[in-house]
Amino acid sequence: MPYRYHCPKCHALLNPNVRVVLVAQHGDDRGIVLMSSQLGDYQVIADKGFCSAIAPGEAVEFHCPVCTKSLTSPLYPGFAELVVRSIDHPDEKPCLLRFSRVSDEHATFLYDGDTVREFGEAAVRFRTNLDVEGDWSW
Ligand SMILES: [Zn+2]
Repeated sequence: MPYRYHCPKCHALLNPNVRVVLVAQHGDDRGIVLMSSQLGDYQVIADKGFCSAIAPGEAVEFHCPVCTKSLTSPLYPGFAELVVRSIDHPDEKPCLLRFSRVSDEHATFLYDGDTVREFGEAAVRFRTNLDVEGDWSW
């Protein structure tokens, strides 16, 4: 568990263990999803019934399980955002994580304020559209 994932709204820790706990909403359905805390690992644990209703290419809205606020990026509505801190380097400034809200679209970007690291095979499609600008305060 190299990173601690936090809600950008209430700052709650979202991976008390190895999984990142989020609430996903698809239409009127809501479910708990457990995402890997390993960047680039897109294995998700969720209710099979909830998942089967989501077709590849459909967007899911993610919410913080603590404050229930939407995690959708205000700048890039196709993405959700979390704040990430390094466990090994707790003094480093927090990073902004953006990941695609679209089912089966594996695109994740980690911004540390200066550089961007990308994960997932779909990331290359967004590379030119996502720049390093954003709100770094929290
Ligand atoms: Zn929250």
